[in-house]
Amino acid sequence: MPELPEVEVTRRSVADGLLGARVLDVRMGLPLRWPLGRDPQGLAGCVCGEISRRGKYLWLPLMRDVDSLAEHLPGLPRNAPAPAGGLLIHLGMSGALSFGEAPAERAPHEHFRLVTDRGDLWLIDPRRFGAVVWSPSLQDEPARKLLSVLGPEPFDPALDDAGFHAGLKARRTPVKAALLSGELVVGAGNIYACEALHLARIDPRLASNKISRPRAARLLAAVRQVLRQAIDAGGSTLRDFSANGAAGHYQERAQVYGREGQPCNTCGTAVRRIVQGQRATFFCGVCQKR
Ligand SMILES: [Zn+2]
Repeated sequence: MPELPEVEVTRRSVADGLLGARVLDVRMGLPLRWPLGRDPQGLAGCVCGEISRRGKYLWLPLMRDVDSLAEHLPGLPRNAPAPAGGLLIHLGMSGALSFGEAPAERAPHEHFRLVTDRGDLWLIDPRRFGAVVWSPSLQDEPARKLLSVLGPEPFDPALDDAGFHAGLKARRTPVKAALLSGELVVGAGNIYACEALHLARIDPRLASNKISRPRAARLLAAVRQVLRQAIDAGGSTLRDFSANGAAGHYQERAQVYGREGQPCNTCGTAVRRIVQGQRATFFCGVCQKR
C-alpha cells in the first residue's frame, strides 16, 4: 500500500504538470471509498493550484479563474484566480496517479480522471479504497475531519525530540505499534517503521514508555532519515506501486524489511521476523536492544 514516501513521490511527479492547468472535464468510474461530494461537471473551468501533501493525503486546490469569468460577468474584478476549493486525494491500498497524455481508452481500474488543457490526471485503483473528495478548503469539512486525526508531519520542525519523547512516554504499546499508529508522527508505515527501528538500534517489542530521551531522539532522527531516503529512491514498490508509471527502489536497500534469515548488514546475525499486531516485523536481535 502506498505510504507517505510513495505519496510524496507521486505529488512531485504530477505537481509541475498540474500547476496552472485548466480543468476541461471530470470523469468518474466506479465508486471509490467516499463519494466526490459535488457535481463533477461543476469543476470545469477551474485552474489547478499547487498540489500539496498532508500525511497520505494529497490536496489539489482548484481556483476559479476570475479573468475568464469576468468576460461573462463584467462586474467581477480582474484579479488573481480566487480559490474555489480543492480535491483531497487518497491512494488507499492500491491507487496510482499519473499525469500526462492519458491512454484514450479508459483502463479497467481507472475510477477518476481530471481532463485538463495540459494533460490528464488519472487514478488507477483496482481495490477502490482510494478516494477523491471535494472540500471547500482544508479547514472546512470534509477535509478538516479527515486530517484532524493525523499526527505531526515527520519533517515539521515543530516536531522536536521533547514532544516525540513525551508521546512515547504516554504509551505502553510496543514502540513499533506506536510508530504504526501515526499518532506520534505520520509516515512510518510497516517497512519504514522496521527500518527506522533498526537504524536507531531499538528492539521493536520494547514498550514505548521505556524509551529514554536520547533513544527517542535517535528514533525520530532515524524515522526522518529513512523517509528521506525512501523519497529519494522513488518510494518502495512492494507489489505494484508506481508514480507516473515509475516504480520505486527503496525496498532494494532495506536493511531488515523482507530479509528474514539473511545476515544483518551490521553484525552478520540472521534477521528475524515476528508478527506484531498482525503485521510482520523484521529486526536484528543483536543490533536492536530492549
Ligand atoms: Zn545486527
